Amino acid sequence: MSSVRSALEADWLRICRRAVADLERMLADRPSTAERAEETGERGSGGDRTLVIDEAAEGFVFDELDALAHDGYEFTAVSEERGEIDYGDRAVRVIIDPIDGSLNAKRGIPHHALSIAVADGDTMADVVFAFVHDFGPGEEWWARRGEGAWLNGERIDPSVGERRGRDGRLEVLGLESADPRWVAASIRALAESAYRLRALGTVAASLCQVAAARFDGMVSLRRARGIDSAAGQLIVREAGGVVCFPRCEEPLGAPLDAAATSPVVAARSPETLRELARIPA
Ligand SMILES: [Mg+2]
Repeated sequence: MSSVRSALEADWLRICRRAVADLERMLADRPSTAERAEETGERGSGGDRTLVIDEAAEGFVFDELDALAHDGYEFTAVSEERGEIDYGDRAVRVIIDPIDGSLNAKRGIPHHALSIAVADGDTMADVVFAFVHDFGPGEEWWARRGEGAWLNGERIDPSVGERRGRDGRLEVLGLESADPRWVAASIRALAESAYRLRALGTVAASLCQVAAARFDGMVSLRRARGIDSAAGQLIVREAGGVVCFPRCEEPLGAPLDAAATSPVVAARSPETLRELARIPA
């Protein structure tokens, strides 16, 4: 074993890309819903029933983390199924959702993503590196704090603003936690804010749509887990957008764990962020 190194210095983009390659092979080997719907019989640390594909995907990421630890890097991993695992340094956190949008992956619906964030603290504000690979469109999103955000290797233009229709409503609003009962509870505010709704079924990919200004904003109608938004929220902010977690004292104060602490809201402007933060009932 070599000397101790801060995991903040590791080549995270390369690590994430290697996990993506493994995950792509695994999903290609299990193309049908019958194969992808197979459950392990366990529940993850976030409470969802674990699918065999979730567990396999997480295994690929932990193979990379084990190799990193073997090379002397220290960190703490926080993952959907396994929970928190100590690799020697509690000050550096690696937050993993092996498949955000497992239901989509199971059913063959395009958007489902690997989400990995690296942080030098406990909250969303502390994320320094963010990676989301959306397997449906085959898009790679990543960001580094203070340096910008990239989509498929192209720097995302942070100056692109939102679009509103003649009546002042946002042209396209992304919606997550789109249980019809929760949509019903927020329907008035949604009708006032948006001309059209889009519900992709993954918080990570939905945040990325705001980063590229494809969505004018997004809102989760119920509390989302920290692992779902850890990477996507930095990608939005480094791409010129704004994010808040309205149930937290600080806008970016949500913890980086598998607990569902607050809804997540993202927009292209602070004014719209304030407007959208009122939508979750
Ligand atoms: Mg997941």
